Amino acid sequence: VFQLSVPLNFLGSVYRELRQSLLDMETLFNLQKVNVNVKDKPDAKPLILTAGEIRFENVTFGYRPDRPILKNLNLTIPAGKKVAIVGPSGCGKSTILRLLFRYYDVQEGRILIDGQDIRDITIDSLRKAIGVVPQDTPLFNATIEHNIRYGNLDATPEEVHAAAKRAHIHDTIQHFPDGYGTTVGERGMMISGGEKQRLAVARLILKDPNLLFFDEATSALDTHTEQALLSHINSILKEKKRTSVFIAHRLRTIYDSDLIIVLRAGQVREQGTHEELVDSAGLYSELWSAQETLFAGSNGEEGSSGDA
Ligand code: ATP
Repeated sequence: VFQLSVPLNFLGSVYRELRQSLLDMETLFNLQKVNVNVKDKPDAKPLILTAGEIRFENVTFGYRPDRPILKNLNLTIPAGKKVAIVGPSGCGKSTILRLLFRYYDVQEGRILIDGQDIRDITIDSLRKAIGVVPQDTPLFNATIEHNIRYGNLDATPEEVHAAAKRAHIHDTIQHFPDGYGTTVGERGMMISGGEKQRLAVARLILKDPNLLFFDEATSALDTHTEQALLSHINSILKEKKRTSVFIAHRLRTIYDSDLIIVLRAGQVREQGTHEELVDSAGLYSELWSAQETLFAGSNGEEGSSGDA
């Protein structure tokens, strides 16, 4: 670190950006206590993506070994499908995502992508294959243009604008003081939670990864904007046949998934389509009825962020 400090000072802005992006990774997954033991095996190979299937086989994991969060978990996210993971707060939904990114390694069992144990592939190729729209999108202290281009540094301005259009944020950006040149982030203009989420979607559209995760990705949007953006995301997913996973509390945003996996206490409690789960009158069906009652009561405007 000491030896590196001179060239890094010399590189000035590059260094600051690198540091900022590391900070962003931390906020992204709340990783203050990251496990530094996760590294490439000497003979690690790049991931070979074929169909895009993800499997958890007998996975047991806890942040502390004496407190398992996932217990002998078995689940399959089929290739090219839209899958939802739902369940009570704290049941381990985001933990699944952190394990898949290999921010931690499993204690027992294994995680496979297209048949390859993720511990046998390079971390770099693994993380490049996965895109996430998180609950709270980290922003760089930079222009809007740069913040979107982060998804693909080679993108042309036209591609950046096209992605913004598809993410329903282009018009909003044009009303910012300097349009795409407006600086955002801690030292720039504050943007709303809903705008940040749409920016994250634009970034993802540019990155165009094979495996997509949406972790409460539209929770800050009002119902109307959320529905519009979701239907747009759906059409992109269908067109590209990407594997996608939605982690969600509001079941209205995921009921049309090909597969819904209901977690409880670190295990799969039930799974199926919306119709199958409602018919089976289990946990999902209870959650659905409770949320529908709430939704009817609030006139469909719960969670409004007022930014539409
Ligand atoms: P929510 O729906 O509330 O976001 P979740 O199902 O995504 O919850 P996780 O974030 O996976 O839940 O967390 C599962 C459990 O692990 C929780 O009890 C949480 O407190 C605990 N946990 C999460 N991150 C850590 C960590 N870095 N260190 C220790 N415990 C953690």
